[in-house]
Amino acid sequence: MSVKTSSSEALFKSEAWFERAQLHIPGGVNSPVRAFRSVGGVPRFIERGEGSRIFDVDGKSYIDYVGSWGPLLLGHRPKPVIDALREALDSGTSFGAPTSREVELAELISKTVPSMEMVRLVNSGTEATMSALRLARGFTGRDLTIKFEGCYHGHVDSLLVKAGSGMATLGIADTAGVPKAFAETTIALPYNSIAAVEQAFAQRGNEIAAVIVEPVVGNMGCVPPAPGFLEALRHLCTRYGALLILDEVMTGFRVALGGAQQRFGIQPDLTTLGKIVGGGLPLAVYGGRKDVMQKIAPLGPVYQAGTLSGNPLAVAAGLAMLRYLVANPQLYDQLEARGKQLTEWTPPGVTINRVGAMFTMFFTPDPVTDWESAKKCDTARFGRYFHFMLERGIYLAPSQFEAAFLSTAHSEDDIRYTVAAAREFFAAEAATA
Ligand SMILES: *Cc1c(COP(=O)(O)O)cnc(C)c1O
Repeated sequence: MSVKTSSSEALFKSEAWFERAQLHIPGGVNSPVRAFRSVGGVPRFIERGEGSRIFDVDGKSYIDYVGSWGPLLLGHRPKPVIDALREALDSGTSFGAPTSREVELAELISKTVPSMEMVRLVNSGTEATMSALRLARGFTGRDLTIKFEGCYHGHVDSLLVKAGSGMATLGIADTAGVPKAFAETTIALPYNSIAAVEQAFAQRGNEIAAVIVEPVVGNMGCVPPAPGFLEALRHLCTRYGALLILDEVMTGFRVALGGAQQRFGIQPDLTTLGKIVGGGLPLAVYGGRKDVMQKIAPLGPVYQAGTLSGNPLAVAAGLAMLRYLVANPQLYDQLEARGKQLTEWTPPGVTINRVGAMFTMFFTPDPVTDWESAKKCDTARFGRYFHFMLERGIYLAPSQFEAAFLSTAHSEDDIRYTVAAAREFFAAEAATA
């Protein structure tokens, strides 16, 4: 490829790479929301990251609020994680046999998230939710699952019903390729509606294996649980003998050290973790009640396996990450303070939802509590905001229906600069109205 570099063609390299990418990679990306389809324009090809910033192939730098879609609670290249990776690299990359660090990571997870009495390490959040669901079915001998509209639990066949994240962004209601019989094992209900869950249990309570929920939704944008909602799920699951699965792939170690279950005081039967727990490497976890986890092979009849599960590099990164978080719990206060600084102002005609270090600015004046209210957003207006911010060196998720993530690397100056740019957008909007 012959790429001419010229400052007058600011995006020349990203554009050229994107063109080339589309020849051999569908849409030019390895995960759909990266493609900028809902906001238009060319995705930036990223060369490196450092602290709160990423740098694209055209030499531009951005304050990053995507953070690899959640994992980078300490920003890019945090020293403890990078040092642990360097050390682990010298011992080899994969053995397919047990290692001591897997045990240490399992112990540390159980200590910080006490409901996870036993854990199994896997490679992605999708694998974690898929396995947790299989386990819940194997344990209860039932087939049905309740999920909530706008929640995303990875691309598990039966869970891609009214899912959030990329499907919400691209307007795909129900994906092609999922057999009808699989989709029929899922009951999708409105988030925050206790009445809907009560009704579903009243009708089919003895067929429901599990309720799976994002305890704070990130995948239709940030939507907190209404007071009493998670408690009601806990109560109904117990009453009908179903398992409560908290999908904390996004919220784990983000909204509190012990995740949303600590923040809201909810005891799930099973939990899924991903993103932060891998320290930026592919690692995820499912775990929970010992009597349930003991149904997994080789102890029990529910089969689940993985060639690279507990991969030494991913485990080293995750362990370094978690050890740092445990040793520095005050960082959650800092994240809370920065979060407030970033979101406690009221731009006209928008609604900001935030829980700890995750938040979304919804382009609707009305409260956003579920998918019905989220989808009222003016996505064209969001698109203008997105590009306005991008031009000023602020990298937001290229979709209205995603959460933004703060890291400990975001400085007060980063936040001040970001708020100033956002204020400028709303002022410019008002001036042209
Ligand atoms: C990201 C996410 C997943 C999927 O994780 P992957 O590692 O992308 O497969 C599942 N559940 C929630 C809540 C997530 O945010």
